[in-house]
Amino acid sequence: MDRQVKYNSLENLKKEGAPIIIVAAVHESEAILYACEENGIKIEAFCDSIKEKSFKTFCDLKVIHTPDLPNKFSNARFIIASQHIQDCLEQLTGLGYDNFYSPLELLENYDLKKHNYLITQSYMEARLSVCINSHKMYFENKEKIYMRSIDIMITERCSLKCESCCNLMQYYKAPKNTDEINILDSLSIISQNVDEISEFRIIGGEPLMNRQWSLIVKSIAEKFPDKQIFIYTNGTIAPKDEKLVELKDKNVNFIITSYGHLSKNLNSLENQLNKHSLNYVTTPAEHWVDCSSVRHHKRSAADLKEVFKQCCVKYIYTLLNGKLYRCPFIANAANLKAIPDNPSNYVDLFSKNENVKNQIKKLVKVAKFFPGCDFCDGRPYDGTSSKGYDGKGMIKAGIQTKDILSYKEYK
Ligand code: SF4
Ligand code: SF4
Repeated sequence: MDRQVKYNSLENLKKEGAPIIIVAAVHESEAILYACEENGIKIEAFCDSIKEKSFKTFCDLKVIHTPDLPNKFSNARFIIASQHIQDCLEQLTGLGYDNFYSPLELLENYDLKKHNYLITQSYMEARLSVCINSHKMYFENKEKIYMRSIDIMITERCSLKCESCCNLMQYYKAPKNTDEINILDSLSIISQNVDEISEFRIIGGEPLMNRQWSLIVKSIAEKFPDKQIFIYTNGTIAPKDEKLVELKDKNVNFIITSYGHLSKNLNSLENQLNKHSLNYVTTPAEHWVDCSSVRHHKRSAADLKEVFKQCCVKYIYTLLNGKLYRCPFIANAANLKAIPDNPSNYVDLFSKNENVKNQIKKLVKVAKFFPGCDFCDGRPYDGTSSKGYDGKGMIKAGIQTKDILSYKEYK
């Protein structure tokens, strides 16, 4: 099948030619860099849409802010390490480039145990398995329905109150947990109607605020034993032994965001995860793009298409209360009734009358934007650009609000 990204990277990249750049500076790029070195392929630099990443090196190589590439390289070859393959292609072809490679062939005989990484080997294994899956699905039949990941929102409650929470927790007056049965039934319906999902991400709010969190995660892990599960937590809660014991030898990883002194149980959490040999990675809260206002922009269809095109979370499928959404903003804005109810914004998994498969296919493949996007400032890959974006740009992460923020509620 004709694809813009080439599979046979080894033969082509070993030849003399334009500089080779890895897209983007993400965890799995480190392993791809080593695979290139082992094959005698010289990498010039990484590129990344997040400008702050270009302020320092990654694995001792320069990181170039992607929009800046044409100022540095008139021609280049790219290895797409990012799992957002289609977005990378759109951005790079828009900058005038046309020479793209998948890392699949490079990773075929790669022995990840031969190297140490900035993250643990087992976490690298989890990241690479999702990366490989995403690239395999890229080369599969275009008719197949693929979700790189699905965010499973198990609670609306959070232990922090970030005034610019992009998942809109700052607007919930009476936050609730999601029902476990509803989550499992929803996942059954989704998995029956989708060809492949690479990873499940357990989110909130703060997912550990739901006392049932470990049972929910265990049930998902048992139902989908070959999938990776990533739990996103903010370092305020250190789970007890009996919760973590349940997750032993399951594909469960923790992604911890550190909010400095606010993450008051970060050390205890990390100690507990070490004690139970559970994978985790801790990163400081940074690089926030302001995107938490809910207001009606009344944009033209062309402007909405641009906002959607630039959006970095348009593939973050989100499951909330039996409905599947294309992004966490629409999921929570709809749940809060902060946007008018419009069935074009979601798939109601428990609707009796609709063909769920067709509905999901439309959500995944057809939509060029959603009605809910008109209430969003946008969430661009490049938070320093105003292209398809009406927010304030880069903001300080994790500023707390005392009060719940108000919003216009639609009946
Ligand atoms: S920690 Fe902050 S950003 Fe994360 S879910 Fe809670 S309120 Fe939102
Ligand atoms: S509402 Fe649209 S533009 Fe905003 S985050 Fe969701 S998909 Fe992106």
